[in-house]
Amino acid sequence: MASARTSVFRRKSSGFIVLIIFVFVTLFFFYDKEEIKHESEHPNAPNVARLELLRSKKGSRHKDDFEKEYPLLLVNEQLVICFENGTDYRKLPYITESPPTTEQDPLTTQRNIRRLLPTLHRTTTGDAAEPMIYFVTPTYPRREQIAEIIRLGQTLMHVPYLHWIVADDTDTCSQTLNHHLKKFGIPYTQLASPMPEVYRARKNAPRGVANRRAALNWIRTNGKKSGVLYFGDDDNTFELKLFSEIRYTKKVSMFPVGLIGDYAVSTPIVRNGRVEGFFDSWPAKRKWPVDMAGFAVSLEYLALSPNATMPFRAGYEEDEFLKSIGLKLQDIEPKANNCTEILVWHTQTKSSKAPTVRISMDRQKLDRLNLGTVLKQLETMGVNRISETEGTTAQAIVEGSVKPLSYWFS
Ligand code: UDP
Ligand code: MN
Repeated sequence: MASARTSVFRRKSSGFIVLIIFVFVTLFFFYDKEEIKHESEHPNAPNVARLELLRSKKGSRHKDDFEKEYPLLLVNEQLVICFENGTDYRKLPYITESPPTTEQDPLTTQRNIRRLLPTLHRTTTGDAAEPMIYFVTPTYPRREQIAEIIRLGQTLMHVPYLHWIVADDTDTCSQTLNHHLKKFGIPYTQLASPMPEVYRARKNAPRGVANRRAALNWIRTNGKKSGVLYFGDDDNTFELKLFSEIRYTKKVSMFPVGLIGDYAVSTPIVRNGRVEGFFDSWPAKRKWPVDMAGFAVSLEYLALSPNATMPFRAGYEEDEFLKSIGLKLQDIEPKANNCTEILVWHTQTKSSKAPTVRISMDRQKLDRLNLGTVLKQLETMGVNRISETEGTTAQAIVEGSVKPLSYWFS
């Protein structure tokens, strides 16, 4: 009897073990399929699972290590975080509630400034009183890069609760770029996100795509599911009101962008407070004929589309990105006073060749003057080139007359 019961028990338990193995095999099979599906649908989609693995190998990272510098990984589509700062260090030297009067002592004005500071001095890790704006800026090394970043950074300095993701189209972490980003005091992340060579070789290369994909990757990898995403190129012009307009985006908000194409504007067409169509001089059979700077997406809404991505397809980046998040016309909120105001401009910086400056004397001597530092700095940024044999001869002017640089050392 006892042995009969034992054998029934044995049969039952072996059946149970077989069932467990079956469940595991099934789960494993499906998990694998999901990965394959994910990769085949978007062959270049960042593989978040693989990234997670990489990160855990590097040692677990949490909010407290925010200011660490990270080692460089030179693989396309992998998340290369160069530098991060999660704390808001901004000082707003230009804010005063009212202009100081002659009776007002300077200390009172100082106190006014200090009263305003706490609204900005929050960390991105703490509970923000307002939704965070994740402002994604693709940028690339060229002689105008640092000038653009300074101009944009000084705009963003006025915007509270903003995290600036600066994704640089290069495979090295630019120290020069970081040096400038740090100075603004804005919470930021600097990524290195090179355009794959295969696209760079194209005549119509998809500019800024690898960068924006890397930023999407950072948002996902860091589990950011509240706040708002905005793509702001390094050469555009942003009016401060834009930020308060997009901050409370429910799903996707849209607004006009000035200086676009042959109509000089790209905008949704709004009737009775609803977006009913688009006004853009390059329809190109796009479902969403909008500019990259003409929309913002809430992160709650973005999180509903874990495979959302931006294709390496010049001219169709916005359209396909918005398709990939399953946007519907009725989901769009018109902003900027029912799209009657232009709060963002597609300005472009004229680029010109770096001039060569000819310095035939021993350059080290110039370090005794300010000129050594100034010229070296610009050379590092690619703003100019220095040569011993070619270019425009460097000369000095002293009391109206031109002298060779060697004049200072004779
Ligand atoms: N960009 C980039 N790599 C490039 C060219 C451009 O990352 O090789 C960035 C650039 O800094 C800008 C965005 O992509 O933020 C759009 O590029 P650009 O302003 O040249 O294009 P536009 O939209 O003005 O024609
Ligand atoms: Mn541009």
